[in-house]
Amino acid sequence: MNIHEYQAKALLRDYGAPVSDGRVVLRAEEAKTAAGELDGPLWVVKAQIHAGGRGKGSFKETDAGEKGGVRLAKSVEEAAIEAKKMLGRTLVTHQTGPDGKQVNRIYIEDGSGISRELYLALLVDRATSRVSFVCSTEGGMDIEEVAASTPDKILSFSVDPATGYQPFHGRRIAFMLGLEGQQVKQCVKLMGIFYKLFTDKDMDMLEINPLIVTDKGDLKVLDAKFGFDGNAIYRHPDIAALRDETEEDPKELEASKFDLNYIALDGEIGCMVNGAGLAMATMDIIKLYGAEPANFLDVGGGATKEKVTEAFKIITSDPNVKGILVNIFGGIMRCDIIADGVIAAVKEVGLKVPLVVRLEGTNVDKGKEIIAGSGLNVIAADDLSDAAEKIVKAVKG
Ligand code: GDP
Ligand code: MN
Repeated sequence: MNIHEYQAKALLRDYGAPVSDGRVVLRAEEAKTAAGELDGPLWVVKAQIHAGGRGKGSFKETDAGEKGGVRLAKSVEEAAIEAKKMLGRTLVTHQTGPDGKQVNRIYIEDGSGISRELYLALLVDRATSRVSFVCSTEGGMDIEEVAASTPDKILSFSVDPATGYQPFHGRRIAFMLGLEGQQVKQCVKLMGIFYKLFTDKDMDMLEINPLIVTDKGDLKVLDAKFGFDGNAIYRHPDIAALRDETEEDPKELEASKFDLNYIALDGEIGCMVNGAGLAMATMDIIKLYGAEPANFLDVGGGATKEKVTEAFKIITSDPNVKGILVNIFGGIMRCDIIADGVIAAVKEVGLKVPLVVRLEGTNVDKGKEIIAGSGLNVIAADDLSDAAEKIVKAVKG
């Protein structure tokens, strides 16, 4: 789960990290008052969307102006004008995809004088099963680009969970970043704050790009992108409360309400499968036969008829779906339950695209019987490759 920059900065402020004073606004009329509460003489007006690259992004609407989603203003009035131009408009960045994202919140910040822009991140390194620090002198840039062209400018190391964060970790980062004097002390303290926040809140990403050295020579957080482990959110009601559902894929949101593991993809074949491994295999075999999956969907081991119906509805609501493949291996999940769910769903939402069903395992005969007797136009398949071949053929001809 991701949160907005202003929410991440509020968390950082609570933990004692240096961030600028700022105000979030939801309506253009609030912008002038909000900006007036900040000192100036520089204001930064920032679009709040769950995507990076806002500064270099552009708006779809021409009345939003030529500048990107991060704008500097020299007066309260100017800040209010920029906020008004961005609110409600659609910002496209290299992370939003071509459709962009609607800007519903603006963060107005007291502007900082910048002397250096650095990069800092914490993430879970799955290879070592540890929390890793990543830092670079090349802040404010696309870190993937830095990693590709000048990998020597990136330092990365993991922290032993038995010792946790230690001051030497912070000094190692300070040395790599070329910090001097009081900045080294500030860095050691700040990295400790980041590590504590990361582990306290079960985060999976904490990215500060840029971390700056101000014109006065102090370290400060200028941007913050936080991600939290969805499986641990139940332990953090304070973080769950920060969820902004308007930033999420509506189909994924609906699926999460029914406890379905669903990820929207770009292809044309909708898949309903039980078990993550079988779902991956199904996606692979669809590709093997020359088509692309429209989604990953694992209905889980103990799915009910209602859950299956819901899953089916989510798949059919995707206009990209030109065919559906149901692939179920009945173990804990019984094939007749799936068959009932599929039929109930088709009766409710209708079926406008070809449907291939492959059932195997517990109560398979009963399941096949239910489908055959339903009078629905369902193509039966005997095994996985037969099923994939049939659905691709039905869609592509
Ligand atoms: P992003 O483009 O989504 O990553 O948004 P950032 O918050 O990182 O802002 C983009 C860029 O705007 C930064 O790299 C800075 O160069 C600039 N910027 C952001 N805040 C300030 C500020 O307070 N003062 C100045 N001078 N520049 C800023
Ligand atoms: Mn940034």
